[in-house]
Amino acid sequence: MGFRAFRVEQTEAGFAGQWQSVDRETLPEGEVEIEVLFSSVNYKDALSYSGNRGVTREYPHTPGIDAAGRVVNSQSDEFSAGDEVVVFGYDLGMNTDGGFAQRIRVPAQWVLHLPDGLSASNAMAWGTAGFTAALSVLKLERNGISPEQGPVVVTGATGGVGSIAVALLAHLGYSVVAVSGKEEQVPFLQHLGAGQVVGREEIMAAKGKAMARTQYQAAIDTVGGDMVAALVPQIRPEGAVTTCGMIAGTSFDVSVFPFILRGVSVLGVDSVEIPRALKQAVIDKVAGEWALPQLDALTSSIGRSELTATLEALLQGKGVGRYRLELG
Ligand code: NDP
Repeated sequence: MGFRAFRVEQTEAGFAGQWQSVDRETLPEGEVEIEVLFSSVNYKDALSYSGNRGVTREYPHTPGIDAAGRVVNSQSDEFSAGDEVVVFGYDLGMNTDGGFAQRIRVPAQWVLHLPDGLSASNAMAWGTAGFTAALSVLKLERNGISPEQGPVVVTGATGGVGSIAVALLAHLGYSVVAVSGKEEQVPFLQHLGAGQVVGREEIMAAKGKAMARTQYQAAIDTVGGDMVAALVPQIRPEGAVTTCGMIAGTSFDVSVFPFILRGVSVLGVDSVEIPRALKQAVIDKVAGEWALPQLDALTSSIGRSELTATLEALLQGKGVGRYRLELG
């Protein structure tokens, strides 16, 4: 039986993707075969689609680092046909054919049962970007943040990770300063719960300074590069900056003084290779006490015909919120 998959191929004109009929026999090895009902679109998918060899080495390839749906075949005792499951990260969509397809086949140790309270559809509104935002908040909480200690900054605030971070922090009672390059999206960010929205240049004004006025207890940075360097000197003693992305750069130059005089920390966030138990803990949390009232407001549901335009928008930094892909 065939299924539809978004295959990216290298042509003389560059990389291009299109929906094709694919034979089940071509699915990779793995214990669990899943009928994918929903996927989601992340910046990393856009990189894979654009031919970025740091993400995907060989083409033709099916991107999609997220997938949620129903088990159709399982050679693992942990899963049975009909189970509702989600897969995110590990090698899915990178060098293993991913969730932009109606079927995937993966190792059992990549698969998580969907907890009560989290449908396949909601799980893909969160997706890797949302789970990364949740992991960032978890890391900051372990570092001692609390709502009464002052504002928390979120950069790349209209993006996938950023929009969920804004909404989640606001939901948990934090005062949120959203940093965005999209002036026209100020009402959107306020609707998610941002108390203040500032332009990127306002944060970047501290770039190159060893120390600056400490305005924020912590920050969730989603863009990387100089933004991290500009945030660190503005963080209060014992505060922290999480870093997960590299849209604005892959390295930063920062003085040691905020670290050694204020005890500021930079905390790395990885959602891809972490143990499955931690992934399960995160989805259990978002299914329960961290369920987001603003989830629908920040999620656009797209059909297969809208995938290419969405990937192009993400590549240009023009995405807003989360994009859930319906595979039906
Ligand atoms: P999106 O494309 O959805 O959002 C990124 C946002 O960053 C944009 O919407 C924009 O927001 C802002 N931005 C774009 N270009 C620039 C720039 N040059 N300088 C400053 N800000 C910019 O991406 P995601 O939210 O899906 O991912 C964000 C980053 O996190 C990516 O690098 C991604 O690879 C990484 N990531 C890492 C994970 C991990 O496990 N470590 C997991 C998930 C994502 P605005 O206009 O509001 O400023």
